[in-house]
Amino acid sequence: MTNDRGKAALQRLRKIKPFIQASLSLTKKRCGNPRCRCAQEGPLHEVALLTWKEENRTHTLYVPIELRQEVERWVQEGKLLKRLAAEVSQAQREFLTSKKRSRKSKNV
Ligand SMILES: [Zn+2]
Repeated sequence: MTNDRGKAALQRLRKIKPFIQASLSLTKKRCGNPRCRCAQEGPLHEVALLTWKEENRTHTLYVPIELRQEVERWVQEGKLLKRLAAEVSQAQREFLTSKKRSRKSKNV
C-alpha cells in the first residue's frame, strides 16, 4: 500500500548496491613501523579516513588508498539510501493523509 511517489522510491531502493553510512576524508599518517621513512622525515602515507557515529561516539577506520574510490561509492550509496528512506516515509505519510481526507469527504 503506497502511492506513485512511494512506488518510484521503492523501485530505486530495490537497485541499491553495497553501502555504508559513514563519511570519507583524505588524510596522511604514520604507518607505525619505526623503520619506515615516515617515522622520521616522511613523506607520510596517504590514507582515507572513514568516520561514523555509533551510540553518540565517533568511530574511525583507515581505508587503504587503493580502496578509496570503491568506499566512496559505498558512501554515496549510503546517502542515496537515506534519501530514499525519507522519500518512502514521506510517501506513506501522504498516503495516510489522503485516506483520512477521502474518508472525511465520504462522511459528509
Ligand atoms: Zn610508514
